[in-house]
Amino acid sequence: MNYDFDLFVIGAGSGGVRAARLSAQNGQKVALAEEFRYGGTCVIRGCVPKKLMVYASEFSELFHDANGYGWSIGEYSFSWEKFIVAKDKEINRLENIYSNILTNNNVKHYNSRATLKNYNTVELSTGEVITAKTILIATGGRPFIPNIPGSEYAITSNEIFDLPTKPNNVLIVGGGYIACEFACILNGLGVATTQFYRGDQILRGFDSEVQELVSKEMQNKGINLSLNNDVESISKVADGYIVKDKLNNEIIVDQILYATGRVPNSENIGLEGLDIKTGLKGEIIVDKYSKTNVENIYAIGDVTNRVQLTPVAIVEAVAFVETVYKSNPTMPDHELIATAVFTQPEIGTVGLTEEEALKKCDIEIYSTTFRPMKVILAGRNERMLMKLIVSKESRIILGCHIVGHAAAEMIQLAGVAIKMGATKEDFDKTMAIHPTAAEELVTMNNPTR
Ligand SMILES: Cc1cc2nc3c(=O)[nH]c(=O)nc-3n(C[C@H](O)[C@H](O)[C@H](O)COP(=O)(O)OP(=O)(O)OC[C@H]3O[C@@H](n4cnc5c(N)ncnc54)[C@H](O)[C@@H]3O)c2cc1C
Repeated sequence: MNYDFDLFVIGAGSGGVRAARLSAQNGQKVALAEEFRYGGTCVIRGCVPKKLMVYASEFSELFHDANGYGWSIGEYSFSWEKFIVAKDKEINRLENIYSNILTNNNVKHYNSRATLKNYNTVELSTGEVITAKTILIATGGRPFIPNIPGSEYAITSNEIFDLPTKPNNVLIVGGGYIACEFACILNGLGVATTQFYRGDQILRGFDSEVQELVSKEMQNKGINLSLNNDVESISKVADGYIVKDKLNNEIIVDQILYATGRVPNSENIGLEGLDIKTGLKGEIIVDKYSKTNVENIYAIGDVTNRVQLTPVAIVEAVAFVETVYKSNPTMPDHELIATAVFTQPEIGTVGLTEEEALKKCDIEIYSTTFRPMKVILAGRNERMLMKLIVSKESRIILGCHIVGHAAAEMIQLAGVAIKMGATKEDFDKTMAIHPTAAEELVTMNNPTR
């Protein structure tokens, strides 16, 4: 049977664009549909604008610290409006790059929503019907707000990037990495920030020493963190929103940002009619090669809810192309993924937490917290954490956790060594670089426990 295209990709995010480009470069005839903006969550309302906001927010502390180093800084202030204009300019530039990647590689792209009609056919919102031999679903995910009285007044990470004015005070609901990052960003920009998390400690799933240190430092920097707490109801008043919490307190804020998880974009794209299997959260169920239960339909990225990170969606796209078009069946490797959280202080982590490792084997812990040189003249008490989790038997480093300035940059490189199977002795043999904070990673001689 003749199809219009070899491959039809739904979604121009991190995964979709990479898969479309590589397939086209391999000689396939490729089409793609995007219902919103090219670049997807990462570029338009995720990693990139968030990191720009992190950079913006860090200046308040830098200005403060400069004084300890002898600088006199005059009057300074932050213009939200000016920042938004600069941020939008950069996002537009990146969006153009993504769309040009498709054009330059002869990927026919439609600015349209696509839904599956049958195993080889998609229908665009324009009514156009297109056939393809293979279909790749890369529709990503979206934020989720629980249904509570007044939840319609809350915003999510989608809206925070485009607020026309800076809020004076904000409530952030959630304890995951996105909630914590925005708490730090807004606090750094001078917004009075309260954060509610319903559990005992933020950053669930991270090593407990990381959780505790970051939680403490965030509070030291001025975030009003309320644990074991949640929103009961929200009501609108003339000068903002009244939030009633589970502890029976009330606060008034300008904005309520919910970062309580994300759900896969798998609804109303035609999966039901085709019996494509989804899981409890709506994630598309795929095998190790990202294939759904239908032979010619694949899914990658956040819509599969495996590991929700941009580089993971990209690696899944590359593996899809290798498998389907290059006769080289390739499983994306989800082991030992180094990740960062751009809180202030920053987190870099790879491998097992102490709690996870303890369940697997006998371990040694090498852990140190210290005041890094950078903060001393600045007169701050911020502490940094370096932690290695080592298998007692094999001596292999099972996990590495860093909290502090440049943790994200450090963990990328520690991740290479750990992915290669480095042992504690390999780290010990590595000459330290002095004076750095990272040298602690190769100079921890005695196990803490
Ligand atoms: C606030 C925030 C911060 C983040 N920070 C980081 C970070 O620091 N590092 C990191 O690695 N990851 C981060 N992420 C996660 C990262 O953005 C995602 O993992 C990544 O974008 C997933 O890529 P994807 O291709 O699966 O989906 P997406 O990038 O979400 O792309 C999916 C695309 O499909 C489109 N679409 C959906 N349905 C249809 C349809 N029916 N028809 C046509 N188009 C459709 C959407 O409009 C979207 O453009 C962050 C996410 C958020 C929300």
